[in-house]
Amino acid sequence: MSRVNLVGVLPSDLEDLAVELGASRYRGRQLATWIFRKSVFDLEAMTDLPKDFRARLGERVVVEVPEPERLTPSQDGSQKLVFVLHGGSRISSVLMPDDDRTTLCVSTQVGCGFACGFCLTGVMGLERNLTAAEIVGQILAANRLLDKESRRATHIVFMGMGEPLANYAALVTTLRILTDAKLGVGYSPRRITVSTVGLVPGIDKLGREDLKVNLAISLHATTDEVRSRLMPVNRSFDLAALLAAVKRYPLAARQRVFFEYVMLEDVNDTSDDAQRLARLLRGVKAKVNLIPFNDWEGARFRRPPLARILAFQSILLDAGITTTVRWSKGEDIGAACGQLRESPAVTSLSASS
Ligand code: SAH
Repeated sequence: MSRVNLVGVLPSDLEDLAVELGASRYRGRQLATWIFRKSVFDLEAMTDLPKDFRARLGERVVVEVPEPERLTPSQDGSQKLVFVLHGGSRISSVLMPDDDRTTLCVSTQVGCGFACGFCLTGVMGLERNLTAAEIVGQILAANRLLDKESRRATHIVFMGMGEPLANYAALVTTLRILTDAKLGVGYSPRRITVSTVGLVPGIDKLGREDLKVNLAISLHATTDEVRSRLMPVNRSFDLAALLAAVKRYPLAARQRVFFEYVMLEDVNDTSDDAQRLARLLRGVKAKVNLIPFNDWEGARFRRPPLARILAFQSILLDAGITTTVRWSKGEDIGAACGQLRESPAVTSLSASS
């Protein structure tokens, strides 16, 4: 049986663990401080912990973050980090510097089971959920790299491979570790965004956790007919159900829900679509991010011409909806939205190619 990895354990559970091993809760808090605040993962280096406690820990647990296998820089300043996990699967995180912020985009699953037609990760299917240690580990590992330049990720987005709300328990553990101000990594929840294909029960549950993180909805269409064609999940939770869940999600005073809308030529990019979108979002505290489609080999979609994208944006702006065009980062290194797919998951299926 594999030993627990403390990188995915809540600070309060570390306190319990310390007691279980015959030490005080205080020792658990020290452990949390070493791991989450100081990013020290070597038990031997945790010098203020008694030797025998460290020895007992060493028999029961591991403290490890995934090793980055590759760091690929993009022309635009973003960087793709590829990690090899135990078992050989690969996942990626993307670092995106922008003025005074550095956003880290993390994965929550190996592959994804939702099969959105325009997304390359969807082609892989779902291989497995990541553990909380593997999700928190991406953040601690990325911050360790950034630390060499005296930086750290200022914003975390759950927009890498996988569907965060389909790996719910690990997601929530990760969010609690990240947002614990005293013993955790210490991120403000307002700098964290969870993106979903629209799993209504998951949105409701997340809203009840009192985590106060931002919610992003991958909307991508304004009619059920088109959305079901692009995103099979719409057959389970249609637009009406999704928007009702969004309206129930608790928001702070100036907080808004983000809507991602990938722009696909002649599929969802007409002025009728823009007007329908404005109507759908009436009464929702929304911010729309238009994402021009990022191409991949074998894709059945095209990016609309720039004029079409800007026309779409101005209809939304005229309707009073904050709307930005988000040019994805890292397109040249396969790190842009919807381009994340790492071997060997696929090569193992097609050993002959
Ligand atoms: N499963 C979650 C988290 C992934 S976020 C979700 O879907 O929200 C990744 C974002 O990139 C999603 O909004 C997704 O729809 C979008 N995307 C996927 N493929 C894309 C592509 N080829 N071009 C642009 N955006 C894409």
